[in-house]
Order: sequence, then structure tokens, then C-alpha cells
Amino acid sequence: MSSEPTKLRMSYCELRKLIRSLQATFPTLHPVRVKRCRRIKDWGDCSVVTHRRTKVMQIRVAAWLPWPADYLVFVHEYGHARVWQPDHIEEKIVEQHPAEWGVKLAELWRHLEGEDTPPKETA
Ligand SMILES: [Zn+2]
Repeated sequence: MSSEPTKLRMSYCELRKLIRSLQATFPTLHPVRVKRCRRIKDWGDCSVVTHRRTKVMQIRVAAWLPWPADYLVFVHEYGHARVWQPDHIEEKIVEQHPAEWGVKLAELWRHLEGEDTPPKETA
């Protein structure tokens, strides 16, 4: 991950690369897709949607968020994707931040910052 101060925001190419790398280590219930969204109330959100007849975890990041806020928000939402359970309602946006989410998020940052090898998935 680059941290050049001149960067405006993450490109789709960078986001896809990040998703590929996270999915390899931290798989989610459904594959993750990211969307930059102009018309969004919050900085980002996560929900399950059907895309081309396949369920995906859709992470939306506000299009107007500059780097590195877009990156921080994406990782935050990826934490939500990791705690998504099969009984969560499709199309419902998760707004809670339970302890489990906090642990998953910490694991993501530890991995991204390269401080640790990621712990084994137990699920
Ligand atoms: Zn959240």
C-alpha cells in the first residue's frame, strides 16, 4: 500500500488488488465486491446483494472520500463482511460493531501493517 501524499483516492485497480489479497487470507461468506458511491449517506457500508445471480458482499465506499480515508473505511467495512452470518438479512446494512467485529478488524490491520502473520481461521 502506497502512502504518497499526492494520491487523491484509491483506484479500482488498487481496491481490487487489496480485495484479492484479503480474500486469500480472510475469506468471507460471499466474495467481496467494492463500489464507490456518490450518493451515500455515510462514509461506507456493507451488505449482501445479488450480482449476476451470485450473492456477494457489497462494500460501498463514498466516492468523495480522499486517501487515506477511503482505505480506512474500506478495511472497516471488510471487518463487517468478515462477521456476516448466513442468517443476516440480505440487503440489510450492518450498523453494529460487536466485539467480534473489533477482533476481526484488528486482525486485518495487523495483517495489512505486516506486524504479524495472520492467525488461522477457526470457522
Ligand atoms: Zn461499521
